[in-house]
Amino acid sequence: MILGIDFDNTLVCYDGLFHAAARERGLIPESVPRSKQGVRDYLRAVGREDDFTVLQGYVYGPGIRNASPFPYAVEGIRALLASGAEVCIISHKTRTPILGPRYDLHQAALDWLREQHFFAEGMLTPDRVFLEESKEAKAGRIADMGCTHFVDDLPEFFRLPQFPQDTRRMLFSPQSRNAVSDESWLCFHSWRAICRYCMRHGD
Ligand SMILES: [Mg+2]
Repeated sequence: MILGIDFDNTLVCYDGLFHAAARERGLIPESVPRSKQGVRDYLRAVGREDDFTVLQGYVYGPGIRNASPFPYAVEGIRALLASGAEVCIISHKTRTPILGPRYDLHQAALDWLREQHFFAEGMLTPDRVFLEESKEAKAGRIADMGCTHFVDDLPEFFRLPQFPQDTRRMLFSPQSRNAVSDESWLCFHSWRAICRYCMRHGD
């Protein structure tokens, strides 16, 4: 198995961070749902989508240091590597935010991975991390790396025509319990479930 893994909202859990950062800036009332989606939906509805884009630049930049990995992501990757799987991280991430202060988002991502022990002994090395400037380049990288499986939180990425046909799509959907597997992709609600599947379908 060659397992490719997306980064934002697949490995990194930003729960509560968008809400907290938006509250600090006075952009939303407390009652807005605490998820990234909730904050984005609210700001879109009130015509402040640019504020959301700037906020995202902050959360994915300096704000990432307050984010945690999803439960069992680190332990699960360690177990998969020990079982002989190859693992790489492939993300669509521009070097700097599209709007707002020009934080180095690539450096922030690598610093976070190191801080969260993804580069510890028996884990990954930085040369297994690919931060691509476009969705198409991300899909191309998945093909180049020969990923047999890819985990991502965005169904629309799997629908991209450039997504390699032979790579098994694994949708990570920790929030919506009613998302289900179909002929397009397998659906997982936790990293434990992802790892259980990978251990069973390793070769
Ligand atoms: Mg993602």
